[in-house]
Formats: sequence, C-alpha cells, structure tokens
Amino acid sequence: MNLVCTTCSSAFSANEPRWRCHCGGVLDLGFTLKIDPGDLSRRPFNLWRYREAIPVDDDKNIISFREGGTPLFDCEIDDVRMAIKLDYLFPSGSFKDRGASVLVSKVKELGIKHVVEDSSGNAGAAIAAYCASAGIGCDIYVPDSTSPNKLVQIEMMGATLHKIPGSREDTARAVLAAAEKIYYASHSWNPFFLHGVKTVAYEIAEQMAWATPDVLVLPVGNGTLLLGAYLGFKELWGAGVIPNMPKLIAVQAENCAPCAAAFLQEKSKPVVVEKKPTLAEGIAVAEPIRGKQILAAVRETGGQFVTVSEAAIAFWLKRLYQQGLYVEPTAAVAFAGLAALKKSLSGSQKIVIALTGHGLKANKKI
Ligand SMILES: *Cc1c(COP(=O)(O)O)cnc(C)c1O
Ligand SMILES: [Zn+2]
Repeated sequence: MNLVCTTCSSAFSANEPRWRCHCGGVLDLGFTLKIDPGDLSRRPFNLWRYREAIPVDDDKNIISFREGGTPLFDCEIDDVRMAIKLDYLFPSGSFKDRGASVLVSKVKELGIKHVVEDSSGNAGAAIAAYCASAGIGCDIYVPDSTSPNKLVQIEMMGATLHKIPGSREDTARAVLAAAEKIYYASHSWNPFFLHGVKTVAYEIAEQMAWATPDVLVLPVGNGTLLLGAYLGFKELWGAGVIPNMPKLIAVQAENCAPCAAAFLQEKSKPVVVEKKPTLAEGIAVAEPIRGKQILAAVRETGGQFVTVSEAAIAFWLKRLYQQGLYVEPTAAVAFAGLAALKKSLSGSQKIVIALTGHGLKANKKI
C-alpha cells in the first residue's frame, strides 16, 4: 500500500510518517478493495465491520468506540421523501469520528506519540477523543470564534488548545508551522481520515441492500464527507458490490462557497472568495486543500453544487428541530440545499441526505 502524490505522482510507503509530498502536493492512498458482502452478516454494525476496507494493518492498533452503524431513517419533509443518515450520532458528536478512528489507529501503528490538528471544532474534538483513548498527545488549533462548547470538549479530552485569532485560514497557517516538527493528523490532508469517512458509503449501501441512492446530498467545506462518501461508493462500485454511483449534490453556504463558484465558472480549482460570516461554522472553509478533487468528484457523478443563504440555513435548522432532530446549524445546510433543488428532482428518485453534527455541541445562534 502506497501514499501517492496527486500533483507529481511520487509514491511513498504508507508506513512512512508522511502527510504531504515533498513537492507540497496532497497524498492519496493506493488501495484496492477486496470484500465479500456475504462475510459481513455476523459482524457488529459499526464501521470496523468493513475491516477489509480499512487500511490499518494490525488489529492491535485499532482505537475504536464501536462508532458508526448510524441509522438511515426514512421520512418525508415538505413533500420530499428522503432517507436521513443520522451521522451526528457519534461518541464525539459528529461524523468526524469515522475519520478519527481510522487515522488515530494508523498514527498508533506508525508509533507516533504526538500529533497536531486544526479544525473549526468537530474534527479537533474527534481527534482529541481518539488520541485520549490511544494515549497519544495532541495539540488542536482552532479559530478563536469557534463555538465555546466545542472548545470545552477539546480541552476536557486532554488536548492542548490553541485559539488562533482571525479566520479559519489563519488557523490553518498556524498549524502548518507546528506541523514542521510534529505529525499532522489533518482531516483535510491525511488520506487515512478519508478512508475512515468512506465507511458512511459502505453503511448506506448495505442499509439499502447493496443498492445506491440516486442522489446523495451533503454539506461541503473541506470536503472530507463528500470525498469520503465518493471514495467509499467508488470502491464498492469498482469491486462490483453496487450497480452504480450516486449523483453527489454538494451544498455550500452562499457566504463561503469557493467550490460552488468554481463549478459555475467551469473551473477545475476553487476560486478565491471573500468569506462572510455564516451560521455554518463547520464548513466555513475558503481554501479547501482538496478542492480540485471535490470539483472532479461532483462532475464525475453528474452531480451539482448548490449554495444556500443564511436565512435558508436558519429556516431549515428550525424545521429540523420541529422534527425532533437536534443538530448543529452546519447540518441544516444540506436540507436548505435539497429544498432549493426540490423542483428539479423527480419523486421516484431515492434521495439520501446526511446530518453531520450534534446540536448539543453548538451554542445558540438563531
Ligand atoms: C466537518 C463537518 C461537515 C463537513 O465538512 P467537510 O469539511 O466538508 O468535511 C459538515 N457538518 C459538520 C457539523 C462538520 O463538522
Ligand atoms: Zn508530489
């Protein structure tokens, strides 16, 4: 198994503690899935059920709280039938635990004792929780505007918290300096994180009896959820387990939509945008590291981008509360996007949409 540079194609052993190519490029993992769905039936329903698909060599390095196996819940909201993947039901309160479980297991396998990570809150909380369980030290960098509840969570997990003044991009720059010396357990750079998040696709496919959604609607910031889902469906499709790929519908907040703007302008890379404040703090990413991959994945599946206003996010957050779904504002983004697309979707299409972060982590915003 190799780490392969997406820019210059250099290859490195996956057992080298490397998170970036020497050319500065983003790394992917060369991985071919071998799986027989028939083998799975007796295993517990958590993400390690798909053990063959997870690039951690030795079981003894696995750091897991039996996370995943989240419900896929059929419902109808405002005349649209959909299945909602309740992917906020995780030990740390967001789907980031999928990536954190696999990445921190790999970090343990590499013998690394200390990591750094930056985040708008949820990825940091997830990495901090798994590092606490693994006995690995961690320093988490966050924008100082992050919801206080997420900061408390990160500190209670024993991580060292660095609150960086300014934007999410200022935080990313601060952690890059720290990552010169300490391994960067980054959810946006590190491909092992994506190989954890991809289990969301395995679960959805299995919950649909190895069919696929026609459309999958997801919020996008750094694109870890979108790229993880794409990777998972692609592996299953490549292995002949599922018959086709879902169309990926990527939803961004109008106030920070570098990929949506690039999609409209038919560009292959995110465009430079002036970011405005948004309720969707979890996806307020102006310079997504894997932006090119996000755009390519959406185009390849025949999907599209949608942007949503702050008023629409606030409206859909309330609608979700009225359904008893207590999620954080970022999670409402995908619903606002689906509502905007409603007219162009036929009633017979199977729509799957994900809820991504727990409401208990967010502070009152609307
Ligand atoms: C991380 C996150 C997302 C998705 O963001 P990506 O950066 O695209 O992975 C969506 N919702 C919540 C609550 C999140 O924490
Ligand atoms: Zn390279």
